[in-house]
Amino acid sequence: MAEIQLIDASSLPKCPYCLKELDKIETTKKSYTEQHTIYNCYYCKKVLSIAINL
Ligand SMILES: [Zn+2]
Repeated sequence: MAEIQLIDASSLPKCPYCLKELDKIETTKKSYTEQHTIYNCYYCKKVLSIAINL
């Protein structure tokens, strides 16, 4: 079976939209019971991910 190696990052991740280094990520809790967290780029405000808080 194929194996994936996990390596500690030596540089900051980049926003896929504006390509700025993500030294800050904004979070917004949305919906009635705050069950969802929206992560967006601090610089261009585009949504990077939506997480369901279990
Ligand atoms: Zn961005």
